[in-house]
Amino acid sequence: MPFTIAIDGPAAAGKGTISRALAQAFGFAHLDTGLLYRAVGMKGGDPVAAAQTLLPEDMARPDLRGMAAGEAASRVAALPEVRAALVAFQREFARRAVGAVLDGRDIGTVICPDAEVKIFVTASPECRAERRWKELGEGTFAEVLEQVRARDARDMGRADAPLRPAADAVILDTSDLDIAEAIAQARAIVAARLAQ
Ligand code: C5P
Repeated sequence: MPFTIAIDGPAAAGKGTISRALAQAFGFAHLDTGLLYRAVGMKGGDPVAAAQTLLPEDMARPDLRGMAAGEAASRVAALPEVRAALVAFQREFARRAVGAVLDGRDIGTVICPDAEVKIFVTASPECRAERRWKELGEGTFAEVLEQVRARDARDMGRADAPLRPAADAVILDTSDLDIAEAIAQARAIVAARLAQ
């Protein structure tokens, strides 16, 4: 039986770390869907054509984790044709027999509305900017905070698949949690669902 865990939330809330930990704990495959949009944004040229012809090597670029890629991703992600081109790949991944964890912005609302577990991971913009700033090692704190706020506004304000929690998502606010506590809470949510 496929079992899908949908992890959504704004940039630098802890989605990636929590998703990787859940995948490892439960033996599930993990897809960081932000990387798809980052790869499209960095490919250059027409973003719709880039999304339609995305290749594994596009996803292996070493510069996908940086600030420029995040910014480019958030711009191309507002284009409905780009999002449409990436839906089938994400849904196929979600239904693989082993079980899957997908993290992104619209997994619980659009890609996998029937996911067995939905967690919306969030934290204050200041907490997220501080984490992202330390992790990136580039720019100033003020620049990173500004970028986090701009990205939130663009991701929440777009017409197609805006960032928002699904009605049936559990909200996990990591502002006052360290990473071990956040992972423990997410694991407990999944374990409770698996036990049903
Ligand atoms: O999660 P990450 O920071 O890698 O995502 C980069 C950008 O890609 C986000 O700001 C968002 O605009 C876009 N994205 C999206 N839908 C997803 C994953 C990412 O729109 N499922």
